[in-house]
Amino acid sequence: MLFQLDDALLALQQEAREFARTEVAPQAARRDREKEFPADLMTQVGARGWLGCLVPRSWGGSDIGNIGQAVVLEEIAAACASTHVTMSVHNSLMSTPLKKYASAELQQEFLPKVVTGEWLGAYLLTEPGAGSDAAAQKTTAVRDGDDWLINGEKMWITTGDMARVGIVFARTDLDPAARDAKAVSAFVVDMQSPGISFGKREPKLGLRGSTTVAISLKDLRVPGKNLLGELHRGFNIAMDLLNGGRIGIAIQGIGIGRAALELALDTVGGLKRNGKDLARSQSVQFRLADMATRVDAARLLAYRAAELRDHDLPHIKEASMAKLFATRMANEVCREVVELLGESGYGAASAAERLMRDCRICELYEGTTEIQKLVIAKQLFADRAAEEKA
Ligand SMILES: Cc1cc2nc3c(=O)[nH]c(=O)nc-3n(C[C@H](O)[C@H](O)[C@H](O)COP(=O)(O)OP(=O)(O)OC[C@H]3O[C@@H](n4cnc5c(N)ncnc54)[C@H](O)[C@@H]3O)c2cc1C
Repeated sequence: MLFQLDDALLALQQEAREFARTEVAPQAARRDREKEFPADLMTQVGARGWLGCLVPRSWGGSDIGNIGQAVVLEEIAAACASTHVTMSVHNSLMSTPLKKYASAELQQEFLPKVVTGEWLGAYLLTEPGAGSDAAAQKTTAVRDGDDWLINGEKMWITTGDMARVGIVFARTDLDPAARDAKAVSAFVVDMQSPGISFGKREPKLGLRGSTTVAISLKDLRVPGKNLLGELHRGFNIAMDLLNGGRIGIAIQGIGIGRAALELALDTVGGLKRNGKDLARSQSVQFRLADMATRVDAARLLAYRAAELRDHDLPHIKEASMAKLFATRMANEVCREVVELLGESGYGAASAAERLMRDCRICELYEGTTEIQKLVIAKQLFADRAAEEKA
């Protein structure tokens, strides 16, 4: 299974590849240039169940698991990274937590509209001063009768101003002695509620078709029933979701790296230097072979993490390894491809130029490269300690 997709997954891959080729790729350059959010595409992928990849069919999801989601999202990322991140955040960080942690009442209220894309999702964790150190939340949620009143500032929130449903993290244990990671809770929030205001869309190096905004929460009233999971256990939920999200961002790197490699293969075939076909040059072939090997190695790491997550087996280290390797690979492959194609790769009209800008973020969000290394090293020592104890 890890090495060969079964017939159902191959059919899903074919469907996603065809959709990406006909519906997503032709619009990608314009979306990037005009900073156009893929609202129309969200309706289309919602109709295919791809906004509820882990949501049961009884709720309208496609229930294709983490592997199925990886298969679909790689095709989307190879065509348009902005569309990918909008889908990846919606799936990994919003529809999945609703399915996994929300009460039946909340699921009934939100899931039917979430899986179709009528209501898009956002994940509100990052704050000024709480990026890598995500537990250092300053946003507070205080009881007011049956409700919660939430106050704070969030920043760099993907789809923030287009989303109807937000997963919001806030400090609920205000005792200064409380440990950060045990003081935070998660809430499901209707993003059209009074008390929520949005900053301007962030101008960005890449992913220009996705939106990223700061969000101010002022006396935002949230019903008590909208608490997600247990009180003060929201940071565990945030991290669990990021373990899934990191597989999604690894897949983004794989899609972008693959697209750059395919562009190189398409282009060098037609190039001549000193009267010789560039594709016959050994140094070019070595570069292409290295790139293809790294794309495949990244995909195997991501599939391993996805399969472990599908089976509810430990996968923290494996998800971080996949993200670490795949996102670095994407940056290296894009740089090589721009170099290989020369001016035709560097020019703004080239897809290589967009891919190179789009891949830069992969090493930063959902945990930077340094944070992935810290997670992996911590787990290595934990594994060693467990072995010694056994
Ligand atoms: C386009 C975009 C979309 C985003 N979308 C979302 C979203 O939807 N929701 C959300 O909540 N957030 C989102 N983010 C925020 C993103 O997750 C954070 O930017 C990321 O976690 C890094 O935090 P930071 O930018 O504050 O960097 P910092 O934490 O300030 O880190 C700066 C540098 O220091 C390094 N560093 C930090 N701590 C350590 C350490 N302990 N050891 C070694 N090195 C360290 C980092 O690796 C990095 O190189 C988004 C960001 C961007 C740019």
